[in-house]
Amino acid sequence: MSLVELIGNTRVKATLSSYLRNERVPSSLIFTGSDPYHQLLFALNFAKAALCLNKINDACDRCRYCLAIDRGLFPDVQILEPDGQFYRKNQLDELIAGACQRPLQAEKRFFIMKDAQRLNENSANSFLKTLEEPLPTNVFILLTANLAQILPTIQSRCQILKFLPLSNQEVKLELQSRGVDPEKARLLAFFSADDMEDVAAVDWQELEEKRQAMLSILDCLIRQSQVEDILLDLYDRSRSRDSFIAYFREMVNLISVLLRDIMVLMVDGSSTTLINSDYKEKLMELAALTNIDKIFFLIRKMEFLLRDIQRNLNARVLILEFINSYTPEGTRTPGGTRTPEGACPQQGVNYG
Ligand SMILES: [Zn+2]
Repeated sequence: MSLVELIGNTRVKATLSSYLRNERVPSSLIFTGSDPYHQLLFALNFAKAALCLNKINDACDRCRYCLAIDRGLFPDVQILEPDGQFYRKNQLDELIAGACQRPLQAEKRFFIMKDAQRLNENSANSFLKTLEEPLPTNVFILLTANLAQILPTIQSRCQILKFLPLSNQEVKLELQSRGVDPEKARLLAFFSADDMEDVAAVDWQELEEKRQAMLSILDCLIRQSQVEDILLDLYDRSRSRDSFIAYFREMVNLISVLLRDIMVLMVDGSSTTLINSDYKEKLMELAALTNIDKIFFLIRKMEFLLRDIQRNLNARVLILEFINSYTPEGTRTPGGTRTPEGACPQQGVNYG
């Protein structure tokens, strides 16, 4: 991949290209942003563009330098990562020794440091001198998701380039460029882009299982059948607060989008703007069983429930109340819906 072919962050791309065009590649750079995979991709392709034998201010992707960098086998492009919680002193010593020598093959030598915020004060001090008095042939690229954790003395010696998260459309293109089918890429991008830390880690199979599970839950809520099974399952999950909140947040997101699609279908049954277009038939069925008021009610209920659980209120009591509002009038017991054995709402787990 060449520099121009990289997806997203056009500003960063333009800055890197201008360094090459003007032959003013800084000796030390910081790439900061929430997606480490993306930063590494930019760093590697920038190194390739700078070292390419064809001197076109970009990577030709065909010369032996470009090919070797792609395979991770080029001696003048080194990727470092912390050995343990922090970079160790011996890692830094080795790096500094390497940085005192001329490049082995190319005109420049690139050192790409992942998780640069994990340089602690001890290890950073010796490294600082290398940054202060750089050999003109060295280029250090420090990658970090947390710029604030990089020592100010290091920051002040680097050009800082800030990366923005990829938009849905950019994530989709990025996934497609890696061979993901366009329809799967669209759904993965839609559901994963917001909190995506690593675009390479998204998993179609996992998303598909979650969407199907949420579609079944929604089906039960709308048909008012097996609602108590949902309650039991939520009860079970609510034992572990953190994983329960993560699960429930995802549940609210996925179900809200399914409900959004149902509303679209209520207005226009032939709509082509569904997010879950692969579930159209099933969603049409559900649209015929409910109405806009009920959908708004459900969305509001779920959002309030998520908000209250995040505020440390008793998850189990809240779940009971939520499910109660979904139990058909005729089957509701005077005290509320049936609770799981031994799970009296007043004695539920309190996350205070
Ligand atoms: Zn090349």
